[in-house]
Amino acid sequence: MEQSSTESQFKIFNDGQICVVHVTGAINEETIFQEIDPGASMVVTLDLDKVVSLNSMGLRNWVLWVKQLRSKFQMVFRNCPRVVVDQMNILNGFLPMGAIVGSFYVPYYCESCGREDNLLATRGKDYMEATVDAREGIKIPEQRPCPVCQEEMALDVIPAKYFSFLKYRR
Ligand SMILES: [Zn+2]
Repeated sequence: MEQSSTESQFKIFNDGQICVVHVTGAINEETIFQEIDPGASMVVTLDLDKVVSLNSMGLRNWVLWVKQLRSKFQMVFRNCPRVVVDQMNILNGFLPMGAIVGSFYVPYYCESCGREDNLLATRGKDYMEATVDAREGIKIPEQRPCPVCQEEMALDVIPAKYFSFLKYRR
């Protein structure tokens, strides 16, 4: 890993319409979300691909921060790794109301050779979140061929838990 796992860091790309924030490393008490100023953008996209961990102080600040943002911006979460999806599922307010998950990683494990793999699931292609009058749609396979040994890899998560953030939230 090219980045130290103990520091959090933002890379911000803002074209005036969409503000894309790449978040790297550990989210903890040293993460200063206030560094991020989306200005007049309509959309704030959080690219969470390189997030490696989140501790309780970081989570507390996160929830307060996204709560502020969601009233002003359309929020999109993309490239969410497992550590982030776990929080979306268990921590109320981590994924604010109205926020869209554009893509997230789905872990697979191969029993025969031990290979671990992550499939990037994309909104609209692999899944769709529930709405007030439609259930969530999930087209993510329970098994897929292992790229190493060609046996079947299986989902390394419990679907009912891992995909529960796609349910309709009131
Ligand atoms: Zn294998």
